[in-house]
Amino acid sequence: MARILDGKAIAAAVKQDLAMEIAQLRECGVQPKLVVVLVGDDAASASYVRSKERLARELGMEAEVIRLAADVSEVELLRQIELQNADDAVDALLVQLPLPDHIDTDRVLAAVDPNKDVDGFHPQNIGRYAMGSPLVWPCTTAGILEILVRSSVPLAGQTAVVVGRSRIVGWPTAQLLLAHNATVVQCHSRTKDLTEFTRQADILVVAAGQAGLIGVDDVREGAVVIDVGINRVDGRLVGDVDFDSVVAKAGAITPVPGGVGPLTVAMLMKNTVRLARLRRLTKGDER
Ligand code: NAD
Repeated sequence: MARILDGKAIAAAVKQDLAMEIAQLRECGVQPKLVVVLVGDDAASASYVRSKERLARELGMEAEVIRLAADVSEVELLRQIELQNADDAVDALLVQLPLPDHIDTDRVLAAVDPNKDVDGFHPQNIGRYAMGSPLVWPCTTAGILEILVRSSVPLAGQTAVVVGRSRIVGWPTAQLLLAHNATVVQCHSRTKDLTEFTRQADILVVAAGQAGLIGVDDVREGAVVIDVGINRVDGRLVGDVDFDSVVAKAGAITPVPGGVGPLTVAMLMKNTVRLARLRRLTKGDER
């Protein structure tokens, strides 16, 4: 029976460490500040943004949400980003995705100051993944690493298979595992015979958004299975992995909900603190 990797407990430990770190920073006169730009009134986005704002404040940081109408022009959105870039009190800036169709998302992400790019989506940061050393890794990817490290899962030399190659999760996660010396295979919707690859994985990360994609026959005995997927099936949240069957064969597995999800917002806070430290306490050599 697999060990259950409890994302809620790991996120709680991350938050506890962060609260202490933030208290110390404040004693040195550094008050980390996160700004979130929210365009439109999508209920799911509004709820994610509220939880980000709430957690930042709970941990002792400053948080501000800039709310813009769904029909805001791209020029106005870029102007708002410019204002935050120029504000020295702001350490971390993120634009909640998705943006309305009339706005060019790539142009907006590229307008964020790379040193304040807390989501790690700026082209400069993406280039740094390729070098294995971004200022911050995207939050879900960083959360996956936190789970693996805090659960003492070795990475070097392990065969890691990542299912999914999105810019938000799959691709940066593969880069991160490579940077930690795993042997990485990246699979995606055009991969022929997915099972052939997933069965080789010591560490299997699944981020496809397809409920039930990975069943017991797709997993190697004793593998560490990280299920990033979030799917709603019959009113219930499930991952991409058939948890009930895979749990009997894997060595360790994250549940959905309660696995990777709770780490994502916690890592946003950790990234904010890191950017605040880099910008205010180092002379830029670490950058
Ligand atoms: P996406 O749709 O942008 O990308 C999905 C990726 O999966 C693509 O690269 C695609 O090629 C691949 N894929 C799709 N079907 C496949 C198949 N049958 N076989 C192999 N590969 C396949 O999605 P995303 O933004 O990367 O998110 C993936 C999942 O992770 C979604 O369920 C999303 O809700 C979830 N998610 C969870 C968190 C979290 O905090 N837990 C964060 C972000 C995303």
